[in-house]
Amino acid sequence: MVKAVYPGSFDPVTYGHLDIIERASKVVDELIVAVLVNSGKNPLFSMEERVEMLKEATREFSNVRIETFQGLTVDFAREMGAKVMVRGLRAVSDFESEMQIAQTNHSLNPDIDTMFFTTSLEYAFLSSTIVREVASYGSDVSQFVPPVVEERLKLKYQ
Ligand code: ADP
Repeated sequence: MVKAVYPGSFDPVTYGHLDIIERASKVVDELIVAVLVNSGKNPLFSMEERVEMLKEATREFSNVRIETFQGLTVDFAREMGAKVMVRGLRAVSDFESEMQIAQTNHSLNPDIDTMFFTTSLEYAFLSSTIVREVASYGSDVSQFVPPVVEERLKLKYQ
């Protein structure tokens, strides 16, 4: 039984994240999407809002659940009994920091390995930051995020 944790800020969840969630959910038995509480960033959406949007957007995947966590991802993974960490790679620019995170996590807990999914081409440029930026100018973000997120972004920026 392979249990995996997919950690991130998800501020907000995009079709890029959902692509990784869908693909990862097919190769593991259980996928825990873990929303980081104190990322040091100043989030647009509260933790509760980010969780609600993720729950709605992943309803169709029966082996995916949404949790929140504070502190080190490796500690959270250990608590959950997960030995695999899932991350997405968009471009070469992601590679350096992602490799650093994966190697740090592996030295903190040698039982844990990171599984990388390369992004689908149509989402290679997509990030939560870009989505927030586009939405803040009142532009249409329906090609980047699911309807539940689009609605919430409209409310934030109206
Ligand atoms: P963080 O704030 O830690 O970067 P994010 O929520 O932005 O967290 O991203 C979480 C994970 O999802 C990271 O591994 C990131 O590379 C991946 N990711 C984000 N956007 C995309 C995308 N468009 N395609 C594939 N992976 C993505």
